[in-house]
Amino acid sequence: DLDSVAPSLPSISSSRRERRWGDTTPYAVKKKLQSWFQLPNGNWELGRILSTSGTESVISLSNDKVAKVKTEDLVPANPDILDGVDDLMQLSYLNEPSVLYNLQYRYNQDMIYTKAGPVLVAINPFKRVSLYGNEYIEAYKRKAVESPHVYAIADTAIREMVRDEVNQSIIISGESGAGKTETAKIAMQYLAALGGGSGIEHEILKTNPILEAFGNAKTLRNDNSSRFGKLIEIHFSETGKISGANIQTCKSARTAESRVVQCTEGERSYHIFYQLCAGAPPALREMLNLKSADEYKYLNQSNCYSITGVNDAEEFCVVKEALDVVHINKEDQHSVFAMLAAVLWLGNISFIVIDNENHVEAVEDEGLFNVAKLIGCGMDELKLALSTRKMRVGNDNIVQKLTLTQAIDTRDALAKSIYACLFEWLVEQINKSLAVGKRRTGRSISILDIYGFESFDRNSFEQFCINYANERLQQHFNRHLFKLEQEEYIQDGIDWTKVDFEDNQDCLSLFEKRPLGLLSLLDEESTFPNGTDLTFANKLKQHLSANSCFRGERDKAFAVSHYAGEVTYDTTGFLEKNRDLLHLDSIQLLSSCSCHLPQIFASSMLNRPEKPLVGPLYKLGGGVDSQKMSVATKFKGQLFLLMKRLENTTPHFIRCIKPNNLQSPGLYEQGLVLQQLRCCGVLEVVRISRSGFPTRMSHQKFARRYGFLLLENVASQDPLSVSVAILHQFNILPEMYQVGCTKLFFRTGQIGVLEDTRNRT
Ligand code: ATP
Ligand code: MG
Repeated sequence: DLDSVAPSLPSISSSRRERRWGDTTPYAVKKKLQSWFQLPNGNWELGRILSTSGTESVISLSNDKVAKVKTEDLVPANPDILDGVDDLMQLSYLNEPSVLYNLQYRYNQDMIYTKAGPVLVAINPFKRVSLYGNEYIEAYKRKAVESPHVYAIADTAIREMVRDEVNQSIIISGESGAGKTETAKIAMQYLAALGGGSGIEHEILKTNPILEAFGNAKTLRNDNSSRFGKLIEIHFSETGKISGANIQTCKSARTAESRVVQCTEGERSYHIFYQLCAGAPPALREMLNLKSADEYKYLNQSNCYSITGVNDAEEFCVVKEALDVVHINKEDQHSVFAMLAAVLWLGNISFIVIDNENHVEAVEDEGLFNVAKLIGCGMDELKLALSTRKMRVGNDNIVQKLTLTQAIDTRDALAKSIYACLFEWLVEQINKSLAVGKRRTGRSISILDIYGFESFDRNSFEQFCINYANERLQQHFNRHLFKLEQEEYIQDGIDWTKVDFEDNQDCLSLFEKRPLGLLSLLDEESTFPNGTDLTFANKLKQHLSANSCFRGERDKAFAVSHYAGEVTYDTTGFLEKNRDLLHLDSIQLLSSCSCHLPQIFASSMLNRPEKPLVGPLYKLGGGVDSQKMSVATKFKGQLFLLMKRLENTTPHFIRCIKPNNLQSPGLYEQGLVLQQLRCCGVLEVVRISRSGFPTRMSHQKFARRYGFLLLENVASQDPLSVSVAILHQFNILPEMYQVGCTKLFFRTGQIGVLEDTRNRT
């Protein structure tokens, strides 16, 4: 156990316990030394140590304040010459305030990108920064600039793809509003500029406005929030030119469709609805009987129609042009708009009570009429599908009338399904248009834009899925880093088993183990007619309590120790969200109607046996209700497909950080940034990179640099012997270094003692 040998050694498990980035060197408090001190509001302030006696120190803070503090509360600050280093690995003292300060120092000068070892950290500027465009692209291409940048990452990806003949991936994560989607577009821009020529790159870039229109919405956290995860695989020919692309989306985790029928005050549904209402030309308006957004119940319930700085009507034109570019013909475009209008009109369908058992029937008004017309079915058929449910009891088919709540649920489920299918169909059309063809000889670079780890006061099914996905990505990340480190150690012949890496396999097993894992137990309980959120929670506690990553909480809650911290989940709504909503009647209705819908549905549901997850109506294919796949299982399947694509690629990681919750430029909230650095694992990255033997120096350099400190004369000896003598004289513990054939490898902080002595001499 390394912790007992060297108590000050960093390891992820200790970070997990302490939740903070302690420095590794025992901190010798010296006079005049700069030091961080935490103010009661949680922010860190730089001070100078005036004196230290016993366990207390006197420090001078800014504006000449002097404070007496506990020496152990002081955290070492880096010398001024390290201000704003472009890689956090270069910091002599690696601790939270130093990292926060370094990032802020750069951010204040619009240097929003910083390396954290192998990872690029990007802090959202919330304003236009002059870091992009052809001049910059050229400069990065020529390697005329070295500052960290998305372009530099994309450039490395291209070079390594060509050099190593290995597919690459750029994995972008971060919380909502942190800048993932923008970053992905910036990376695509660079790839398109370098690999362009065939013209297909324009098509690829045009997928962005389409997917954003149909998959993004204004939320309280981000005016353009993606409600789906996206992997775009860009293919290159042997000559390095872009030859095509393929998009895969991952949607169920956020129960994305619920936004279609319901959204919170101040938020909006998907952009495309507002764009259609604002931008449809007169002929189209008439054909769809289109009204303005505020006349649709699905849109007017949240009291928010516009986004500052965005013109929906103009965006509609942009989207239409983009649809042309990806070869979706006018007729299909018309069907898409008709389906959107049908969804909006569905929301306006109302019900009246028809008997004294509170059963209801859809009112024959404009809403019902328009939906029937747009999806191409009879009004009676639609009315029946919305007011009754066929059920099988024993061997009999019975027809059950619906109550108001049931009818509304049925109506909303129908609207959500139509929208979900539409989205899938669109992605499929785009993929057809971008297809590489059979001669897929070249290599690819994939860009993944996916929701980051989430931990709120109250965490539900959505967070459960999202965090599970992030746990998978983290494993990918760890394994990659581990591999990189390992290779260098092996090359230099050192014992790499001494390098400790945290593995999150235990937590992943907690989710995936069968039959006794979180996902299996959830599915099992979801199929029990009598299962409730409480029985589910109890089952978890009964079966999983022995797992070190699991903790049962009071009532319906449980906690999971994720790599990024412990999260408590409230199981309320888990079972319902995990079950599939749509009833057979609606499916039958949709499959029989005469509009383009059946084709749209058929293509998104039936024709892809290789893909296990094909939207909420996949059952249509088998036609049997019992084939139902749960939402969690579908999500897991999508995730596995995604990971499979990433598996044989060389990954490049970008972690986006949101500096404030107001989407406002220039505002850097230390606490918020810190919480994300912890969550997205940036702390762990630098720590992993440093928890091995991050400081490397050749025998020669080491002997030259510190040889003169030796007490005995060693002038005639070889560099290796000199080095060993130095190590002995300074009592550097054997666990703290490794001697390779060309280099010495040190744990973090070990060189510091030597440097200090050297500087004092
Ligand atoms: P979500 O998870 O909600 O989809 P996200 O991480 O994808 O969030 P983005 O939509 O990429 O976040 O970014 C939110 C907003 O921040 C953008 O609409 C843009 O205004 C601003 N932004 C992000 N990155 C940049 C950048 N590099 N330069 C300028 N503005 C940016
Ligand atoms: Mg996004």
